Amino acid sequence: MKLLKNCSLISDNQIINRDILIDEDTIVEIAEKIKKQTGWEEIDIDYKFVLPGFIDFHVHLDDEINGVPIADNYDSGTRVALKSGITTLFSFITQRKGETLRDAVNRTHEKAKGNLWCDVGWHLTPTTFDDESHKIISELIDEGFSTFKLYTTYKKAGIYSSYHEIEEFAKKYVNQQILILVHCEDDDLIRSKAIKTNDTSLSNFVRVRSKTVELTAVNKILRIARRTGAHFHIVHVSTAEAMKVINKLKYNNFVTCETCPQYLFLDNTNYSKLNGEQYICTPPLRDKENNAKLIEGFKLNYFNIIASDHCPFTQSQKMIGRRFYDKAPSGLSGLDFIPYLTSNLFERDFEKAKFLQQKLSAEPAHLTGLYPDKGAIMVNSIADLVVVDFDNEHSLAGREGIYNPYSEITTKLNISKVMKGGEFVVSDGEILINNPKGNAL
Ligand SMILES: [Zn+2]
Repeated sequence: MKLLKNCSLISDNQIINRDILIDEDTIVEIAEKIKKQTGWEEIDIDYKFVLPGFIDFHVHLDDEINGVPIADNYDSGTRVALKSGITTLFSFITQRKGETLRDAVNRTHEKAKGNLWCDVGWHLTPTTFDDESHKIISELIDEGFSTFKLYTTYKKAGIYSSYHEIEEFAKKYVNQQILILVHCEDDDLIRSKAIKTNDTSLSNFVRVRSKTVELTAVNKILRIARRTGAHFHIVHVSTAEAMKVINKLKYNNFVTCETCPQYLFLDNTNYSKLNGEQYICTPPLRDKENNAKLIEGFKLNYFNIIASDHCPFTQSQKMIGRRFYDKAPSGLSGLDFIPYLTSNLFERDFEKAKFLQQKLSAEPAHLTGLYPDKGAIMVNSIADLVVVDFDNEHSLAGREGIYNPYSEITTKLNISKVMKGGEFVVSDGEILINNPKGNAL
């Protein structure tokens, strides 16, 4: 038994002080005062905030973008996650040319095996939709996969689905409680703009993947959501326009959405810097005014969750984008930064803790069906916990070799301890365990 004394918890709209008793990997009691018994280990949390382990819903690991391998595999990615208090993350399994979705699942599980420092679940991306493929999809749903990701762009990469295919997919599985994540950028619009200008310089990148490109795809997906009644989740919403139309539909619960720190903290003036290619991500960064509107929307609960869209490349891998944005690997590092940046959106410590708990833990747990095993501090919840305070201002460190676009930003969030499955696995930024103990969900 582990007894955590003097924990500050967020409950409803207030801070409450509680002791938490943990048996193996499960929370078994929460009370104002729990008296230590012989044989119990007691840890004084000293009134720091104790939050449920963070859950990052959108993480790319051990994959390729534009033929370039991502700089994090399962080992390195889940280590970084754990240090950031992320005890569960969701990554992607993408069916490649010449393989079935089943092959892709097996390939990924093989890579992940023995390398997970936090728990990992997967969203599936099927890329063929014939009878045999649907048979496999149905089997995988029966086996417990419940989230799928489809793309309205990236024809060349072979992961594009037409709106018609997306609608048929939604209709077919609407009664099986699946969640369909969609990357919304209209491929036809992108291509027509790119062909018209034939300019692969970075300055054209933002013009080609414009706000209209996102809004067009979002509107089409929303119509499909309305027609089919399927649950759609729009990933990495980058424009205030898209945020607003999504929220008009939300009352029916047909649609949920996320945004990512880069669309709140970084803007498109970075593309005119000397190293502008380091900021290439899709959708691209937008203007400052747009950032402010998204932040406002985030505070008004327009976004169900915040997710990192972690997809890091080394600085040299990204260099190709300096002349050919269309050949550059698209994506930024996020696992290192997401809780810090999210906390920076708020003034008061209470708000910082509350929104971290909601948007980076409870809500993603609801979306993935993990709540209240995860995403909650309740009796019978799994003891995945993050101990934080907001006492020391420090800069965002990042990692060697991977460009840190947030190096000028400071934060007050300190992650002092991380507990996973009832065991302290991180203390003051250092991983305490010698072997990875994460589960494949
Ligand atoms: Zn992504």
